[in-house]
Parts: sequence; C-alpha cells; structure tokens
Amino acid sequence: MSEYDHHFAEQVDEIKRQGLYRSRRLLESPQGACVEIDGQKLVNFSSNDYLGLANHPDIVTAFKQAVDEYGVGSGSAHLICGHHRVHQQLEEELADFVGRDRVLLFSNGYMANLGIISTLVSTGDAVYEDRLNHASLLDGGRMAGARFQRYRHGDIEHLKTILNRNLSRKKMIVTDGVFSMDGDLAPMADLVRIARSNKALLMIDDAHGLGIVGKKGGGVLEEFQLSQHDVPVLMATLGKGFGTYGAFVAGSESLIDFLLQKARTYTFTTALPPALAEATRASLKLIIQEDWRREKLQLLSIQLKTGIRQLGLDLLESESAIHAVIIGDNYRTSEISNQLLNMGIFVSAIRPPSVPKGKARLRITLSAKHEAQDVDRLLSALEKVVN
Ligand SMILES: *Cc1c(COP(=O)(O)O)cnc(C)c1O
Repeated sequence: MSEYDHHFAEQVDEIKRQGLYRSRRLLESPQGACVEIDGQKLVNFSSNDYLGLANHPDIVTAFKQAVDEYGVGSGSAHLICGHHRVHQQLEEELADFVGRDRVLLFSNGYMANLGIISTLVSTGDAVYEDRLNHASLLDGGRMAGARFQRYRHGDIEHLKTILNRNLSRKKMIVTDGVFSMDGDLAPMADLVRIARSNKALLMIDDAHGLGIVGKKGGGVLEEFQLSQHDVPVLMATLGKGFGTYGAFVAGSESLIDFLLQKARTYTFTTALPPALAEATRASLKLIIQEDWRREKLQLLSIQLKTGIRQLGLDLLESESAIHAVIIGDNYRTSEISNQLLNMGIFVSAIRPPSVPKGKARLRITLSAKHEAQDVDRLLSALEKVVN
C-alpha cells in the first residue's frame, strides 16, 4: 500500500469506529412503493419519489418517444448548441405552474444551488442560512465568498439578532421549504417579513415541497400564499416529487437573465438530455391533473403519525411526506433499520453528517403508491423492534 492508501484506509477506519460507515444497497427493480433490493422484496419507505411518478407509464412513454425523436445525449451546454426546443417548452410550462416570469433549468439541484447563491452574492455581501439547510445550499453559501452565517433551525429571533449585527452591502436569506431530514416547513411568513425589513434577498429551495405540498402542488409557497414579489428566488428539484431528474430556478425576468449569463454551474456543463425534459413535461401534467396523489399522501401521513405517537416514539412535527423518528445513537439507529429490513421493510437510518450529532433517526418517507396496509405493516414491525 502506498503512503496515501494507508492514509485513506485510516480515515475510513475512523468513520467505522464512529458508526458512520456507509455502504450502498443494490436496487434491482424500478423505484416504487415495493422494490427489490439485494435480492429481497421490500416495502420501501426510503425514497423521495413521493408522488409515485418515477416509473409512471405516461412518463416512461414520453421518455422513450423523445429518445426515438431526439436521441440520448444533448451534446453541448445550453449556451452553445444544447438548448433544445423541449428544454424551452419545459421552462415555460414550469414558469406557468409556479406563477413566475421565467424559469432556468439546471442539470441537478446540487449544481443549481451552488450556481444560484454564488452568483447572487459575493465578497462583501452576507448569506444567512437555516442550520438544517441542505448541504448544497450550505456549500453554495460558502462558495460565494460572502460572509456566511447560520441561524438556529426555524429561529426567527436568532436570525434577527445576527442580521442586526451586520452592515454588509447585500444580504441574502436562504432556506429549505420542507426540511429534508425533519419534514417540517420553514416559517415562510416570518422570513418574508424579516427579509423585507432588512432589504435582504430571500431564496427558498422547495425540493421536497413542490408537487407535494399545497392543494395544487404549488409547494410551500402555495401553502403560505406567497408570490414572486414576496420570495424572489424559488428553486426546486425534479428528481424527487417529479420522479425524473434535474432542477430549476424561477423568478423575475432580470433574475433569470442574470443567472443565465453568470451562473458557472449553468454555463460550464452539458445540458440535460432533451428526453428527460420531455419526461418531466409528462410528469408536470400529472402533477397538475392528479390531486388524488397529494390527498392520498395526506391520509397516509395522518395514519402513520397517529400510529407512531401511539408507540410512544419521538416523532418530529411534519407537514410533508417526510416523517422523522429520533433514535439518537448511531449504532442503535442502524440496528433498528437492519431489523426492519429483515422483516421486509426498508426505512433509512440517517446519521451525521446528514443530521446533527446525537440526532440519528429513522427517516420514513411516504409515497402516493403506498396503501394503508403498507403503513400498518410498518407500524407493527416498529412496535416489535423498538420495545
Ligand atoms: C436533493 C436536494 C437537493 C439536490 O438536488 P439534486 O437534484 O438531487 O442534486 C437540493 N436541495 C434539497 C433541499 C434537496 O433535498
């Protein structure tokens, strides 16, 4: 082994000692409410395919037909010769859906967040982020070169205090809409008020809300009845509720034009395959037409929350399809997840660094493709393993 290899192996050993070693499971079926993993059939409470669209026949067909028509690779960045008519159509349809002037597609959410934040603020400015924001938002904030500060989760008073202390030129406040590891919603009404009084630019990442939260699937901003004027920067991903892949940012004409000119993670990367854009257009149609998916998620959520409370477990508040049961210890959390797996139920153990130390948890996600019996099965399995 080379000196470097020794060094790498030591670091991995340290990760193992902390109970944080990660490995991948092999998925051998399409994504869905039931999956086959490592040769075992499992009820799946781990994916972000909340609306059950990842393997929907309409979307599969749209994707296949588009591949026949346009091929697979986009062959270029958007600004060279990769911006296809179907990318443009998807951008326009998404803009209509979210009620904003214009949309810009990105290859994925991680890159979108790096590009958006690092373009909108820079040295001499300040970024304020909720402590539990997604890693890509935190990394975007750090990459911006601006003064970077995190406020306690959902804590408006703390945010006020740190905003008052700062005299930076430009200020930007960034928050998840639905917190991905907790399932609660950001206090958007308060954030709008505080952003306005501090002349700060407000950005929401609604990766886990758009399509899922709100009667029409308009996400957290529909739930709070907030417009482009209230929250100028809206970002969301397409790989979760939409069941496809990619991400976008939506806002005013001038915001989008500026990002198109300057966001490096937009400029210097290959455009999404056009067929993916076509598949996402099919997904958007279903999201608009099929309210039953959101209604069903609501019912399943109530059933799950009631059952978990009856078991006396530490369940976090949630108004989304994400439900977190705090266990605390890393090893214990993994052990429970493994026991559930042996009973044919897949619930992820989420450990640091995805969540704060001492807050390891089971993250249960629901899908519109689950049935009440699936939730019952999970509840009775949980009862056996936690007591
Ligand atoms: C998943 C996620 C992202 C990253 O999106 P990808 O398209 O998967 O890269 C960004 N923000 C939040 C809140 C997410 O949950």
